[in-house]
Amino acid sequence: MENGKPKNVRCLHLTSNMLCALFESPQRPKVCHECKADPVFCGKNFDEALEIFNSLE
Ligand code: SF4
Repeated sequence: MENGKPKNVRCLHLTSNMLCALFESPQRPKVCHECKADPVFCGKNFDEALEIFNSLE
């Protein structure tokens, strides 16, 4: 996204089945490539991650 992705804004590259459309692409942003899931924030699955992120708002 040209000017960065504001919080609570869905990434333009996130597909309807919650996958990254750029995952295998060299165009995938460096910050995304280097981001590693942390169980403290990401939990064990999508629902847990959503619950944790929502609790941080
Ligand atoms: S990994 Fe990065 S580019 Fe891919 S959907 Fe997530 S925020 Fe967007």
